[in-house]
Amino acid sequence: MSILSKLLNLIFPLRCLGCDDVLGDEKGYLFCDECLKTCEFFRFKSRCRICSAPVEDGNLCAYCRTHERNFIKNISCARYSGAIKEAIKRFKFDKRGDLYRGLGEILADEISDSNLFAIDIITAVPIHKNRLKKRGFNQSELLAKYVSKELAITFAPKALIKVKDVPPQSSLKSPSERKKNVSGAFAVGDKEIIKGKNILLIDDVFTTGATLSEISRVLIKNGAKTVFTATVAMAKA
Ligand SMILES: [Zn+2]
Ligand SMILES: [Zn+2]
Repeated sequence: MSILSKLLNLIFPLRCLGCDDVLGDEKGYLFCDECLKTCEFFRFKSRCRICSAPVEDGNLCAYCRTHERNFIKNISCARYSGAIKEAIKRFKFDKRGDLYRGLGEILADEISDSNLFAIDIITAVPIHKNRLKKRGFNQSELLAKYVSKELAITFAPKALIKVKDVPPQSSLKSPSERKKNVSGAFAVGDKEIIKGKNILLIDDVFTTGATLSEISRVLIKNGAKTVFTATVAMAKA
């Protein structure tokens, strides 16, 4: 460790993404040992070829076998539980927008290891302007910007807009309610940016995939070539 980074570490010590404890000897990790134990990363698991949920046989999960997906493939890094869930909740609801760096690093690592073919642009799931006013930032956009910088792929902030202020997906339980809720909620902001492009769409959490699939449909309908999606965590059973 250089003198400069030692000094920076004294002033701004690295903290665990999950519990905010100062990291000691674990430096280089994003979580303290205790929190790390509660994380379930998907990296070395057998995963669904479409949504990346852990599966027994490495083929398709039950959901992808029976539902149409408008994206080619989704990448999620870990289960939405334990310290990963805590980190995302703090990021979104506790005014900890700064956590985009740690969470973005996890996401960027996973994406660069996934060998997605030629992505032209990266964009984020937009939030409605009313929600943006309340939260002050769009969590997915902060993640997408970080990933685009890490992977040196253009970020297209104006690709999408949320045109309907619908209830949060997390407030709805059934997959059919979630699908209905997001239908017609999104529109393309700038057709020229997405025309003929392979797009990587970024969000924080994948639940049923209804939001990501709906936005993928809108992107394709408006001229995008293909859509891949990526999220930090997956809440799917
Ligand atoms: Zn911790
Ligand atoms: Zn699947």
